Amino acid sequence: MLTAIGDVMRRLYEIGWITTRDGNASLRKRGSKFLYITPSGWRKTILHPEHMVKLRFGGDGELEIPDGSKPSGELHMHWLLQRKAKGTRAVVHAHPTHIVAALYRGYDMQKVASQFPEIFRYTRVGPSVAPIPAVTKELGDGTAEALGLRDGKLDYDIVAQHNHGVCAVSKDPWSAYEHVERLNHVCEILLTSGVPPEEVERRHELGQMR
Ligand SMILES: [Zn+2]
Repeated sequence: MLTAIGDVMRRLYEIGWITTRDGNASLRKRGSKFLYITPSGWRKTILHPEHMVKLRFGGDGELEIPDGSKPSGELHMHWLLQRKAKGTRAVVHAHPTHIVAALYRGYDMQKVASQFPEIFRYTRVGPSVAPIPAVTKELGDGTAEALGLRDGKLDYDIVAQHNHGVCAVSKDPWSAYEHVERLNHVCEILLTSGVPPEEVERRHELGQMR
């Protein structure tokens, strides 16, 4: 499954949802005391299992960070989402073009998702995170809150982050990737349609799909 992290990051790069050194991901296997996270600033095109940073959860739930290790700058976000995970969990953060564009244009991601069975049947979309600078504690806190984090459990599978990207969570890296892919696809459809955010809101209120 560690190999899948590198494969997912390469896919994200190939389709333009991250630039070379962007994005990050983590993996914690069920019951494991270890968190695997992508290294800070590493080129994602050459990311392989041996490059993943392995950090140990101490008894207090804090992570032990050995001298010289360089975990992703978004470690706080990953730590919050992984520290009380009950089962195997993968967390993926990327900058998918159409999602970020749709957010910037003013679309409400939950109201968008409610109208497309392609996404609402398989992916729970949470409220979007306000514009918060990258690599800050606040971004991690805001993302965890938007995902509905409570005692390790989450209400949603993905949330978008204004002027930035998304954070998706699932049982393995490719499943987390699929949440990103579904939301990006409906955002691409929406932007292509030219329907403005106000009309999306109106159709949501009418409950056209559910
Ligand atoms: Zn980012």
